[in-house]
Amino acid sequence: MVPNTSSLRLFSPNPNVTIRRWTSTAANCAAFNVSSTASQIGGFLSKKSYTPPSWASDLSLVPSHSFTLGQFPTPIHKWNLPNLPKDTEVWIKRDDLAGMELSGNKVRKLEFLMADAVAQGADCVITVGGIQSNHCRATAVAAKYVNLDCYLILATSTILVDEDPGLVGNLLVERLLGAHIDLVSKREFVKIGSVALTDLLKERLLEKGRKPYVISGGGSNSLGNWGYIEAVREIEQQIQLSGDVQFDDIVVACGSGGTVAGLALGSQLSSLKAKVHGFSVCYNSGYFYDNVQDHIDGLQSGLNSHDIVRIEDAKGLGYAMSTADELKFVKDVAAATGILLDPVYRCNTFLLCVTLYLISCMIVLPFK
Ligand SMILES: *Cc1c(COP(=O)(O)O)cnc(C)c1O
Repeated sequence: MVPNTSSLRLFSPNPNVTIRRWTSTAANCAAFNVSSTASQIGGFLSKKSYTPPSWASDLSLVPSHSFTLGQFPTPIHKWNLPNLPKDTEVWIKRDDLAGMELSGNKVRKLEFLMADAVAQGADCVITVGGIQSNHCRATAVAAKYVNLDCYLILATSTILVDEDPGLVGNLLVERLLGAHIDLVSKREFVKIGSVALTDLLKERLLEKGRKPYVISGGGSNSLGNWGYIEAVREIEQQIQLSGDVQFDDIVVACGSGGTVAGLALGSQLSSLKAKVHGFSVCYNSGYFYDNVQDHIDGLQSGLNSHDIVRIEDAKGLGYAMSTADELKFVKDVAAATGILLDPVYRCNTFLLCVTLYLISCMIVLPFK
């Protein structure tokens, strides 16, 4: 179907909501006067040339550059979850510590995607997601870091699509950042598809003389996958430094599939050789085997997704819906271990016999 312009409802850049009590401006931030010409210290926010790990050098679409947008390496530590089965150790890779607003797995993909956008001479990026998408928030932040405008298409429920989306959660962050937000109803989103919607907005911006760069939903495409190929190199190096830790399984939630695809490919090609499990929060497992296949075909890996990943259904009540038991688990884990989990990305693992909720982090399970 050919979408018409009325599919999208524009709510920015002139939100008709007053943002009150927001006093943090440049005026009350510490400023440093430096005479050097460098625009940063220590490489953060700089563009650097990229060399893949040796075990990934035969893949295609090797990125030439990346931006340093997050704090890496993120720590890995033992996670003393309550009621673990005997002889099971769970370790956690804290990708939630990659950076406050960028927290999580999205920033690893955006380091490559933003470098590509800038290399192509874009002046703005377009991306798409659910109304409270973490990916859209992270993209809005990363875009401003590299001085690009950001256009978001957010899918919301049909009854709310004509309402102002408010200033809650990720939307507050996006609107503070001045991201342009178009709303689309979930029904239209499914009918029209994210590619046609981003193309529509792209056309509109091109007509206005802008130079848009489209980032697919979740930042998951073959270029974005390099973020998690690179994460495998990071884990390998951390293991080397630590001595004798060895991980048998890596468990991660999947939403758009890029994280699990990069990890599974990296684990298979590198010395890691851990089994990678993806827990789907939105589609059935068949969808993700195909989706991972598309990603790894894009990199011409020659591998079959069924050989490198196991996908489990963890949809539960449905995307972004939690039962009372699941929410209690989030609370128990927070109280027992200090780790806050994102209920959207639950991970119902048969391995652990508990329901795990991931906040942008991956769980690494060693069985000794
Ligand atoms: C996006 C997201 C995931 C899923 O990653 P995909 O690469 O989209 O599959 C998992 N956990 C959190 C917290 C996320 O924001």
